[in-house]
Amino acid sequence: MKIVLLGAPGAGKGTQAQKLVEEFGVAHISTGDLLRAAVKAQSELGVKAKEYMDAGQLVPDELVVGLVKERLAQDDAKIGFILDGFPRNTAQAITLDAELSKMGVDLDGALLVDVASEVIVNRLSSRRTCRSCGYTAGADTSVCPRCNGEMYQRDDDKPETIQKRLDTYASQTEPLIEYYGGKGILVKVDGDRPVDEVYVDVKKELGL
Ligand code: AMP
Repeated sequence: MKIVLLGAPGAGKGTQAQKLVEEFGVAHISTGDLLRAAVKAQSELGVKAKEYMDAGQLVPDELVVGLVKERLAQDDAKIGFILDGFPRNTAQAITLDAELSKMGVDLDGALLVDVASEVIVNRLSSRRTCRSCGYTAGADTSVCPRCNGEMYQRDDDKPETIQKRLDTYASQTEPLIEYYGGKGILVKVDGDRPVDEVYVDVKKELGL
């Protein structure tokens, strides 16, 4: 399984990716998680990235692409991978194609988790994320059910940044639906349903 997940922030990409990882043991490559880890470690890249993340903007491609290449080269990604949050614009998609072709790998599909933007705003403002493992749940969850870590509200899940992230998605990431549609590898699920129902469809659409 070598797939790209597409969808607005808060559409449920990470949740569906976690379920696929648990069932199929493929690598979950989330650029948001990789960047948050760099911010937490206060690495040079993390310090630069934080500015853009806090503003609801995309981190410059040159900072993100290196992280993805490094992660794709790790052993667990050889079985398969789910790219979650990458590519985020057409330039990243073209770079990914070039990198995968160097590796002799083809994408099996690009899966769009489709959710209306009104639903997204409500979801993101009540989302809490585990500081340790990145698990996400609703506002009533204060301890991570997976690792007992502390659940917190990401700075960029606060109302003032949510709209900016949605605008960034519409202008820069949404064109990728056409990009992968044109390659004939786009599939789509309705993400505005309970997680397990969406997951049944995800597997059906991916032929799993
Ligand atoms: P996410 O967890 O995927 O919602 O990502 C959180 C933030 O990290 C985004 O709002 C961007 O600022 C940044 N980010 C994540 N993935 C990328 C990417 N592929 N390219 C540029 N910025 C990214």
